[in-house]
Amino acid sequence: MKRFRSAPAARRTLAAALAASRFFAMAALIAIAVLGRPVPLAAQALPTGDPVLRRIWEEGMERSQVEALAQTLLDSIGPRLTGSPGMQAAHEWAVATYRRWGIEARNEQYGTWRGWRRGITHIDLLRPRVRTLEGTMLAWSPGTRGRVTGPVVTLPDVRSPEEFEAWLPQVKGKFVLVSFPQPTCRPDENWERWATPQSLERMRAARRAAQEAWTARIRATGVPERELPARLERAGALGILTSRWSQGWGVNKIFDARTERVPSLDLSCEDYGLLFRLAERNQGPVIRVEAEAEFLGEVPVYNTIAVIPGTERPNEYVLLSAHFDSWDGGSGATDNGTGTVTMMEAMRLLKAAYPNPKRTIIAGHWGGEEQGLNGSRAFAADHPEIVEGLQALFNQDNGTGRVTTISMQGLVEAGAHFGRWFARIPEEITRHITLVIPGTPGGGGSDYASFVCYGAPAFSLSSLSWDYSTYTWHTNRDTYDKIAFDDVRNNAVLTAMLAYLAAEDPERVPRERRVMPTDPRTGQPRDWPACRQPQRRSATAAAEVAGQGTVGR
Ligand SMILES: [Zn+2]
Repeated sequence: MKRFRSAPAARRTLAAALAASRFFAMAALIAIAVLGRPVPLAAQALPTGDPVLRRIWEEGMERSQVEALAQTLLDSIGPRLTGSPGMQAAHEWAVATYRRWGIEARNEQYGTWRGWRRGITHIDLLRPRVRTLEGTMLAWSPGTRGRVTGPVVTLPDVRSPEEFEAWLPQVKGKFVLVSFPQPTCRPDENWERWATPQSLERMRAARRAAQEAWTARIRATGVPERELPARLERAGALGILTSRWSQGWGVNKIFDARTERVPSLDLSCEDYGLLFRLAERNQGPVIRVEAEAEFLGEVPVYNTIAVIPGTERPNEYVLLSAHFDSWDGGSGATDNGTGTVTMMEAMRLLKAAYPNPKRTIIAGHWGGEEQGLNGSRAFAADHPEIVEGLQALFNQDNGTGRVTTISMQGLVEAGAHFGRWFARIPEEITRHITLVIPGTPGGGGSDYASFVCYGAPAFSLSSLSWDYSTYTWHTNRDTYDKIAFDDVRNNAVLTAMLAYLAAEDPERVPRERRVMPTDPRTGQPRDWPACRQPQRRSATAAAEVAGQGTVGR
């Protein structure tokens, strides 16, 4: 194949290649691959004649549904903030989609959360000139009632908490800038590419000094940074302006608000800097804000569970795992729309290729991951029989990339099983993947940890970065267009094949644990990660209940 890849035939047009002799049939198929189409050729390259693996490959590569699933979920339904109507719509869509495929599915309530509906956000600079600013409300922010206009001020540079207290009444009727103003909104890699070494060093030194001065400015107020928004709100501020730049072009992380009555608004690095400079230099910035938001009270929250029942060992389980919720600055495309679509598509492939599995195959689309793995932790706690009967769990949650690393999570015998499974999966998929044996057990970060803590065989299908942490993770740019669909297709086929092979494996994956590495602080072996209780209701509700003296759930 490599020989043909570099041969002139591979560079012919598709039509010419198709017209070539039978000798060039393989080259024609490679030409299709070169043109970026699915690769039907590889079905013939499977190392075994296993009809199930062949069917999974054909269905997943030639009749893939990943684009259609992702487009509906991310564009039409949109982001899936815990407790939002978007999350609820996504749960209903997933159940309906599974049922359409003939797969039983249900939404299983695990608790409640603070319900909130995001409306529009408009932020306009009116003075000293007109400009529509790029920004949005943080999640769970209060809105405005209609349009609110007011001047913009920065957090003052005071010498003492007393001086800050004396200044506080001045925020009444004003918007307050409380984030560090980045001196440059160019990513570092851009500076490294274009700046002279001297000016790169000067920029870095200036930024360091400015950052230190800003930290000192916050400290001088005597108010912890997390509590500043609430403090300013109580003093009568019209709204809080922040900017959590993600160090790439045009990207900000959009997390949750810390105000109760006035809006918390995140502005782009550029527009935040603009307002900050205007305010610091007394050029009188005035903005108008219109932000709509609705609190819906404490609402039920769910995991979506889909099941293909096992025929021979129904009480043993293969679990396909991906959190369903997201932050809502973008569409939650790579966190974790891609993991969601991977698992849904894998279930569709399994239903088509392997409808009567030996062991039960479950897809778990967890709620509340972003607030602390709450959905998966609750599922593990509520279903000890599934944790007990778990043959293998495959979780995917770090972006759109093809899977490149799978750790055995500290289970010493798991590698032998993966070795047998990988021997039967096409090299087109496995050649990208490094198995880490025995690995160390993950204590958090994504939902596999909710099962690893019990010592159950739960694995993370870890993906190639595609600049995940800077550009898409929890950002305003985590949108449909960022998805690398060939990689998602690859991952869905991989997951379906692993699920099939794990479901058929004559042996259970043993739970023997590794000797844990030494903790340098204590000189003792580290502990296996402990299981944590899920948070079954929002902090707001918990506080209210505690205030009434009611015993918690
Ligand atoms: Zn995630």
